[in-house]
Amino acid sequence: MAKKQFKSESKRLLELMVNSIYTHREIFLRELISNASDAIDKLCYISLTDDKVGLERDDFQIRVTTDKESRKLIISDNGVGMTAAELETNLGVIAKSGSLKFKEEMDQPSEEIDIIGQFGVGFYSAFMIAERVTVISRAYGSDSANQWTSEGADGYTIKPAEKDSFGTDIIMELKSNTEDEDYSEFLEEYTLHSLVKKYSDYIRWPIIMDVTKSRQVESDELDSDGKKKMVWEDYTEAEVINSRVPIWQRPKNEAPDEEYAKFYKEKFFDFNDPAAIIRVSAEGTVSFKAMLFIPSEAPFDYFTREYKPGLQLYSSGILIMEHCADLLPEHFRFVRGVVDSQDLSLNISREMLQHDRQLKIIANNVEKKVRSELTKLMENSAEKYDGFYKSFGIQLKYGIVSGPQGEGLSDLLLFYSSKEAKLISLAEYVKHMPEEQKFIYYACGESAALLSKLPQSEELREKGYDILFLTDDIDEFVVRAVGKFEEKEFRSVIDGDLGLQSEDEEKEAAQQETDNKDILEFVKESLGDKITAARLSRKLKSYPVCLATQGDITLEMERYFKSIQARDGGMADQMKAQRVLEFNAGHKSFAALKKAYETDKEKASKYAQLLYGQALLMAGVPLEDPAEFAELVNEFAFS
Ligand code: ADP
Repeated sequence: MAKKQFKSESKRLLELMVNSIYTHREIFLRELISNASDAIDKLCYISLTDDKVGLERDDFQIRVTTDKESRKLIISDNGVGMTAAELETNLGVIAKSGSLKFKEEMDQPSEEIDIIGQFGVGFYSAFMIAERVTVISRAYGSDSANQWTSEGADGYTIKPAEKDSFGTDIIMELKSNTEDEDYSEFLEEYTLHSLVKKYSDYIRWPIIMDVTKSRQVESDELDSDGKKKMVWEDYTEAEVINSRVPIWQRPKNEAPDEEYAKFYKEKFFDFNDPAAIIRVSAEGTVSFKAMLFIPSEAPFDYFTREYKPGLQLYSSGILIMEHCADLLPEHFRFVRGVVDSQDLSLNISREMLQHDRQLKIIANNVEKKVRSELTKLMENSAEKYDGFYKSFGIQLKYGIVSGPQGEGLSDLLLFYSSKEAKLISLAEYVKHMPEEQKFIYYACGESAALLSKLPQSEELREKGYDILFLTDDIDEFVVRAVGKFEEKEFRSVIDGDLGLQSEDEEKEAAQQETDNKDILEFVKESLGDKITAARLSRKLKSYPVCLATQGDITLEMERYFKSIQARDGGMADQMKAQRVLEFNAGHKSFAALKKAYETDKEKASKYAQLLYGQALLMAGVPLEDPAEFAELVNEFAFS
């Protein structure tokens, strides 16, 4: 029979496996047992609604057998099995789950060996220890079996085979020992036993192996009293060697955090320890156990369509759904983990699950737990939380702007404090507000460096008030959606009135405004459509002018909509901020403007243009006509 070729990336991986000098090659056993367990999960799930399976829950098992003479190690399961086509697609290409990540790392050769240890790469790991692998499988519902055989990178064959019952046998013919390598150890009961214990103890299906035991039996020899002598005799007995308690069902004191972290890394393909581990054990209307993980970094596909959010859902230890998205609100879609409840009815269809009341109760509970754990992390391990926030802060922000579901998430936000020069929470901001400070001040812009020089914030800085610098596109929408924090309203340094004036000062300012009505109207006329109004500023100290806005759309939003428009086309032209030019009445430029207004209107108009240009520049908004502006500067600076 002609050999078929592996897909090219599988081939590279195989070569790596075959030639691996990796010391943790023992993980192949974990990988194969985990595949067997998944296959049983699948058939068990089918058996809930299909009587024809003919197996009870207790009938499912994984067997580990050896044949020392032929150097064979065999892992068998009575799970769902594979058809010839499935053998081809499943074993002809590298494990999908790890493949992308693996490919990324393949470009950094020094790292590649470690990947095997961290993720496991599934079935292929068998080639680390075997010179030939044969898979005999019969799929559930099929009358015939097939055999897949391969000796490694040069390809594989598939042909019909005999097998009495559903399931899969993985037969590994071990490599010959070399001077440095002892492959025979994988035929030893002791080694296999301890590897199962080490890596697969929590697999919930029984892993059965022949175990050698000793017992005392009567011999034919008689002792001095004429009784038959008792002697020790070895015998073997099939025994379940794993403890079968899923890790999330184990009491906390028996499973330390390191074990959970290890479980997380293997199961969810992450290099890093999780930022937090959450155990939930709930009794009540719905009883369930959950083990949840907050990753410390976003997985490589997190912001792509490839990423599948959701928790694994088990009902009494049987996997019902691999990614149950209904268990997590959108804003916590980064959470990984497992939920296991005996109260969910087993033969519920996947579609019905969506409307399940019990599921909703679990989801609510999970959401609360995650929220409180994040709060704890924020309060107790700032550094870890910062790391988490860098990856997932944006997710929380989307949660807030997308509606009522995100309510209460504002406690978890961090913003850059201009005073502390680091990220702080809103609670910290409010806590450090001087008593007389009424608002939470913020400024939106591209970078903290730019924002720190804003003319509008001079007075606040003088007063020693902190200003939050918001540099994410979405931040301004977030602040609006939050509205108030601990009864304090937000105020934009750039766009709004800072609310610093006393009543008397207000009156005085209003009077000043009236006194200068003519000149301000003149400026508005000179600048035409460019601005909606000109007025005197209440926040400038040493700068001559600044740009503010009126109405709902701020400069930052305008910028944001423009960037979307550049990407997507359409829409955003109406999304223009109404600009207001504010003057510092105490600045010499205003005196000059006034004087020109009385004596030389043309010059006054040019001054207005010049000051408007400055205001744009300081706000980080591009000049509408840079050449004209340069001309004006030249005219006044060098004449
Ligand atoms: P992964 O388990 O990460 O998907 P593997 O390379 O280990 O990758 O396995 C590839 C696929 O082959 C599995 O997803 C599964 O569909 C199938 N498979 C492997 N082992 C078995 C088995 N014992 N019984 C049934 N199907 C199996």
